[in-house]
Amino acid sequence: MRFDVISIFPNVFSYMETTKIWTRGIAAKTIEFHAHDLRNFSDDPHHKVDDTPYGGGPGMLLQIEPLVKALESLPRLPKSKVVLTSPQGEAFTHEKAVDFANLDQLILICGRYEGVDERFIEHWVDELVSIGDYVLLGGELPAMVMMEAICRLLPGIVGNATSVKTDSLTSGRLKYPQYSRPAEFRGHKVPDVLLSGNHEEIRIWREKKSNFRTLQKRPDLLKHPNVQKTKKQ
Ligand code: SAH
Repeated sequence: MRFDVISIFPNVFSYMETTKIWTRGIAAKTIEFHAHDLRNFSDDPHHKVDDTPYGGGPGMLLQIEPLVKALESLPRLPKSKVVLTSPQGEAFTHEKAVDFANLDQLILICGRYEGVDERFIEHWVDELVSIGDYVLLGGELPAMVMMEAICRLLPGIVGNATSVKTDSLTSGRLKYPQYSRPAEFRGHKVPDVLLSGNHEEIRIWREKKSNFRTLQKRPDLLKHPNVQKTKKQ
């Protein structure tokens, strides 16, 4: 899958290289990643890409011209989408991550300041996506959140595919509690069943815990049919 991001801060995406699943995906050619500096598409001698909004009001807007030029400079793969990060967008959820993971290419536009010229949204953007009901300074963190969630659904990225399938939300339930060594720490013990070696009992215990936890913390999830989806193979 190919990711393109258009941003005035393309360097912040070097964070992605600190995660193993990302660099492994790039080495295996499962992921292709390109960060494009919006300023390179400005005709202004100072590479300016923002201007004041018509009609007045606070702040600056990213101008339509460099955004369109940046977008048009990109090669487009058959299944490709242009997504603008925006607090006005549809919520980014596991289901949306699965949908995006089935694309060949995701082009993420990172807004800044007051956002972007509305004509760009109307005529060049396929979808607006928000990562939550709060307002950030720019679309770079939302773009990274989305790419990380999507890339771990791609085949061969996460070492243990079962781990992805049983993750919270992927299975339509929250994941069961997990423990590691030591079996006892300051009097706090790991549940006996997990040390029993009885795989069937462990499976039943985990299923019960998972259902109980979901009922307690996220009863809304139980109203939906099991999501059980990752990227279509
Ligand atoms: N004035 C705009 C908000 C601009 S915030 C409004 O009221 O709608 C600046 C940029 O940060 C946005 O263009 C968007 O790209 C990004 N951004 C801020 N909050 C976001 C969120 N919750 N989800 C996704 N992107 C967000």
